[in-house]
Amino acid sequence: MILNIQDKFNKALPADPNRNNTIRQVTASCYSYVHPSPTANPLLLHSSTEMLHELGLTALDAKSPAFLKVFTGNELLPDTQPYAMCYGGHQFGHWAGQLGDGRAINLCEVEHNTKNWALQLKGAGKTPYSRTADGLAVLRSSIREYLCSEAMFHLGVPTTRALSLALTGNEVLRDVMYDGNPAYEKGAVVCRTAESFLRFGSFQIFAARQDKKTLKILLDYTINNHYAHLGVPTKSVYINFFKEVAQRSLDMVIHWQRVGFVHGVMNTDNLSILGLTIDYGPYGWLEGYDHGWTPNTTDKGQKRYRYGAQAEMVHWNLYQLANALYPIILEAAPLEAILKKFVGQYRSRYLLMMKSKLGLFEENDADAKLIQDLEFILQESETDMTLFFRLLSKVTKEDKENGFNKISPAFYEIYEVQNNLKPNWEAWFIAYHHRLNQESLTDVQRRTKMNAVNPKYVLRNYMAQLAIDAADKGNYDMIEELYQLLKKPYDEQMEQEKWFAKRPEWARHKVGCSMLSCSS
Ligand code: AMP
Ligand code: MG
Repeated sequence: MILNIQDKFNKALPADPNRNNTIRQVTASCYSYVHPSPTANPLLLHSSTEMLHELGLTALDAKSPAFLKVFTGNELLPDTQPYAMCYGGHQFGHWAGQLGDGRAINLCEVEHNTKNWALQLKGAGKTPYSRTADGLAVLRSSIREYLCSEAMFHLGVPTTRALSLALTGNEVLRDVMYDGNPAYEKGAVVCRTAESFLRFGSFQIFAARQDKKTLKILLDYTINNHYAHLGVPTKSVYINFFKEVAQRSLDMVIHWQRVGFVHGVMNTDNLSILGLTIDYGPYGWLEGYDHGWTPNTTDKGQKRYRYGAQAEMVHWNLYQLANALYPIILEAAPLEAILKKFVGQYRSRYLLMMKSKLGLFEENDADAKLIQDLEFILQESETDMTLFFRLLSKVTKEDKENGFNKISPAFYEIYEVQNNLKPNWEAWFIAYHHRLNQESLTDVQRRTKMNAVNPKYVLRNYMAQLAIDAADKGNYDMIEELYQLLKKPYDEQMEQEKWFAKRPEWARHKVGCSMLSCSS
């Protein structure tokens, strides 16, 4: 296994001088050196062919003893100095102080085909940032992170990636629903990858401690290494940097809304400075289209991170980032202007995105209303989001009457819809039919465009749970099956039609399917 190791982060940035692995507050440093904890009986369950390729590795490399040892924490790559990153964050709207990589350890950085990748083990043991926790990860949450990060990549959503998934052979104690019923679960470790794992909270921690010096060092490093196209850091470059972070975060959240992804824990420590989806915890996929839905049981009362609020939460987080950058920029107006613009930009980008899901590409002032009306009845009817938009592409310009029938497999309670909401749906389809006939594309052309933005297959909550239940019993075939399926989420894949289906009833209230805790 040969990797082109090109460490930068731990070469350029200030390190914690304390090399002991003890829980502590770490000041004036961006990271602490720490070794992964050895694992008892590691077993590689899966590796991503695409990610191996990105790093210049082959499937054969993934089968090597060295690969297993390195990516389960039992051996270090030569001349590397692993480290855990220091960051803080606002959790559920409140400043939480220092958080940091409590169970993530960066192994090294790799350069291949002009791309840079940081390689990070998640669940590889305690670090100085583990606070009261054990630094470990369980199999269920590791399968969820592994499959979803690759699935999101193939959906075209900016995301961190995953290289490998392995069992550690250690047992991990978890109280899944926080109800006083702890049990032992299989421990696992994921090697995840990204150009950088820096978060909004990486900057906030220094601002909160009034450590302008380290803040500026980190900011300049980030621009020079990840936003180099903006030029040599100056005040106007800092402002442009913030503008681009806002832009990238906006792109990301528009994609989330498009595919029906709900992150679940959009704390500032879980927002990437590169606009990548990061930290797959109690995330979920919309089944019934519902702006009020959140998968995270911890957030059940407040629903702060519900589907319909995700853009607003990105905006809130950007506000905190602006506050963190202010001590360097020392001018609020340009940052405020960017934040203000974000709101309008989101509105117009959201409209365009929704129009594309409906196959509407020409300008029409009435489209916003058409979409609003649709969102209203979609929610009133408990309609499966993925099924609905995919089936909608089958509606033709001739289909004045037939639209409702074509999309009706997407309803969870068809009789209720027929009894109570059919007139609303028919009225909507009359408007849609009228609107479709103003489009210059043919039905076939429009369908192709719609099917490129409306996935046929997503990692439905119950699908991940089925893979988890099987894996718990020692059967890993479904991990491979879902991984293969989700590589081509926009393709028809006729032999996989069973996954193009509504959530089964048994999964409606099952833990792991509709409800997820942060326990991982
Ligand atoms: P999250 O909500 O998963 O993003 O985690 C918030 C913080 O808790 C981060 O600093 C994590 O590193 C830390 N954390 C979560 N789980 C563990 C764990 N099992 N051991 C140590 N730290 C953890
Ligand atoms: Mg996190």
